[in-house]
Amino acid sequence: MARITLQNLAHSYFPSPTSEADFALKEMDHVWDDGGAYALLGSSGCGKTTLLNIISGLVRPSHGRVLFGDTDVTDAPTTERNIAQVFQFPVVYDTMTVRDNLSFPLRNRGKDAAYIKARVDQIATMIGMEDRLNQKARGLTADAKQKISLGRGMVREDVNAILFDEPLTVIDPHMKWELRTQLKSLHREFRHTMIYVTHDQTEALTFADKVVVMYDGRVVQMGTPEELFETPAHTFVGYFIGSPGMNLFEATVRGSVAHVDGHAVSLGADYGAPKGRVQIGIRPEFAFMTDGPGLPATVRRIEDVGRHRIIRADVLGTAISLIAPEGMAVGADMTRVAFAAEKINVYADDWRVSPVGAQERAA
Ligand code: ATP
Repeated sequence: MARITLQNLAHSYFPSPTSEADFALKEMDHVWDDGGAYALLGSSGCGKTTLLNIISGLVRPSHGRVLFGDTDVTDAPTTERNIAQVFQFPVVYDTMTVRDNLSFPLRNRGKDAAYIKARVDQIATMIGMEDRLNQKARGLTADAKQKISLGRGMVREDVNAILFDEPLTVIDPHMKWELRTQLKSLHREFRHTMIYVTHDQTEALTFADKVVVMYDGRVVQMGTPEELFETPAHTFVGYFIGSPGMNLFEATVRGSVAHVDGHAVSLGADYGAPKGRVQIGIRPEFAFMTDGPGLPATVRRIEDVGRHRIIRADVLGTAISLIAPEGMAVGADMTRVAFAAEKINVYADDWRVSPVGAQERAA
């Protein structure tokens, strides 16, 4: 297993890039801890696959270096990186039995028969295939074949990392949950460095200790699910994580007060005087309809989604969403919206502003 370091890494598919827009990956410096479970999350085209392929050695970065532990692997081919990969679609040998498919990576590396049998039995149990080990892969469902691919990805104990590229795409929704849970427990047990690419926030948040959110070729935040929820580092994270995403208002901020279209909104901390395009962000979970003080709001629609209701409202020309817990009444006299001050985040040019003194306190 290995710590993975991305040093001044950037990538352009053009031979002579002339501007930042020519880069599929903008310059980044990151250390991914040995034994960590990471999810690479972002919408289509943000650079997830490019980054994964650079780590696996399928793509050579046009700038910077990749290190596994202290070894520079930038120019090492995939075969020399000692990694396992699981792709979107199953890669199995149809004419082989499930056992032979799972044994393959171990036999290739000359492991002894007793070890192979024990290890394959263990993995087969974890992927729920122990009763089908002697069956040929041909004729199995796509689900079952992908489980074999996942098992094969995890069968070697000595890999530097296991890379998953949207591995649950072909799996039916119920099984997705089960396999995600199994992957998580496999990670807990074996502590491999795992990198899991997905555009699905639920997959990312349930699988990973750290979620790496990408936007337009950049890593905009690397954080725990809680950090992404509480303190999105970029407005994209606020919008992309959560359902519905974070509400944003154009504002001016002075100290611990924001002004939205002339209305004062108390903030939970002192933010100084941020410059640029300033916005305040508040998650739907922390905004409430009220008959007390707040910003004037018009309710447009209320959607009952089971455990709670989503209120869609207009506030000073901005469409926002609020989450009202089951049983909370929304009376006709509730014509204002109020926010939990300590849950408001402040953004300048899309990046989160730290409260004054927060960095010194954290240091
Ligand atoms: P998706 O979820 O759709 O696979 P992604 O986040 O994995 O998207 P990438 O496939 O890494 O994104 O693509 C990032 C950018 O690089 C996109 O603009 C894409 O068009 C471009 N790109 C990807 N592969 C190539 C290639 N082989 N040649 C040229 N441009 C490419």
